[in-house]
Amino acid sequence: MKNPTYDLLLVGSGLYNAIIANEATKDGLKCLVIDKRTHPGGNVYTEKINDINVHTYGPHIFHTKDKEVWEYMSGLCTMNHFILTPLAYHKGKLYNLPFNLHTFYQLWGITSPEAVIKKIQEQNQPPVDEDNFENKAISLVGKDVYNILIKGYTEKQWGRPARELSSDIIKRLPLRFVFNNNYFDDPYQGIPVNGYTKIIEDCFKQCDILLNTDFTENRNLQENASLTVYTGMIDEYYDYTYGTLEYRSLRFETEIPDCSNYQGAAVVNYTEKEVPYTRIIEHKHFEFGNQPTTVITKEYPLDWQKGLEPYYPVQTSRNEALYTKYSALAAAESQVVFGGRLGLYKYLNMDQIVRHALDTYQEIRKKLKKRLIEKTNQNSRFNRSRISNTAGQVAALRIVNACIWKNFFRSVWGYSLQAFGLSS
Ligand code: UDP
Repeated sequence: MKNPTYDLLLVGSGLYNAIIANEATKDGLKCLVIDKRTHPGGNVYTEKINDINVHTYGPHIFHTKDKEVWEYMSGLCTMNHFILTPLAYHKGKLYNLPFNLHTFYQLWGITSPEAVIKKIQEQNQPPVDEDNFENKAISLVGKDVYNILIKGYTEKQWGRPARELSSDIIKRLPLRFVFNNNYFDDPYQGIPVNGYTKIIEDCFKQCDILLNTDFTENRNLQENASLTVYTGMIDEYYDYTYGTLEYRSLRFETEIPDCSNYQGAAVVNYTEKEVPYTRIIEHKHFEFGNQPTTVITKEYPLDWQKGLEPYYPVQTSRNEALYTKYSALAAAESQVVFGGRLGLYKYLNMDQIVRHALDTYQEIRKKLKKRLIEKTNQNSRFNRSRISNTAGQVAALRIVNACIWKNFFRSVWGYSLQAFGLSS
């Protein structure tokens, strides 16, 4: 490839590529970001409605055990002290989540941890040993909790019997024999004070961005970059060669109810199968808001099909086997790196995305080593010549440099527009 315009083509402008861009631009690499949506940010995008940060694509609470990741995020934003303590609603009753002594007390009126453990063991007779979601869940919490708080929610969330799902999904939720409603076990938790969109914009501020741009219709953009970081669906990248992976989609219904506090909690799950949505989010509670109005969003899960947004990879043995075939193709690529939930076909949380992006960037640095050395040499030549000038000469040099760069960017931009067929 002869002198490509960009070092990196970042396909998708979600959190994964925002971190890659943040690191790459610190190294002076040139990035072009494309996204098919009308805004950057992927699914962490937040928008203001009535002065409330609305999590447009579902609730995003940052939580991690990884101190380095937490410190990295804290360098990009100020995190508030939000701790998720959601509730589950079932046939007119509310239960605390995750499954802990509050939940068991509400269900059985039992207060002693030992008695709760005994009750769960009684409900798991005879123990079932085939490894699937249903068996795992019953073995952990017993049949009552499973039937009231898990089965209905899980089957509408994933659109299939719980027996067909991987037991890994239930392992996401803590189970505690203490009174503690903290949904996550992680020591570091919070939500960015000014919303996620601000972080994303800051990370991409030195990149060129093309929105409304679908990669599948613009694959030629890859010719303009040394390396592509692709965060779209991996099966789509390979034109579904081995078949289609399954995804779960969502429909969000956002409302402004006629009150200032709708449900008194950020998240309430609806665990009955008959209620078509899985949860109601009340966004102001993520930031302890006391605005005069409120905004709520109902989340309706649905099967993914072309034209819908894929939110979740579906962890079944069929999909895992199919992904293994696609990942073998990905591993053989020298100029493309796959990332994010869709590129890796993994149900990753935000902290895992950040960790993965930081680690992958080190791999990218190795691949672009020659380019990074050139950059360092250019910078040191530039710095030497500046040092040898008087203050007046430095000012003049700055103006000349600014003009050169301005023209350079202008011509690169013009060329890019032509190359992308956006200008004649
Ligand atoms: N889950 C459930 N009942 C609940 C909450 C969660 O059965 O009230 C199960 C369900 O299968 C879900 C999984 O636990 O898909 C993981 O839940 P999590 O809250 O991590 O889902 P996310 O917020 O990622 O959609």
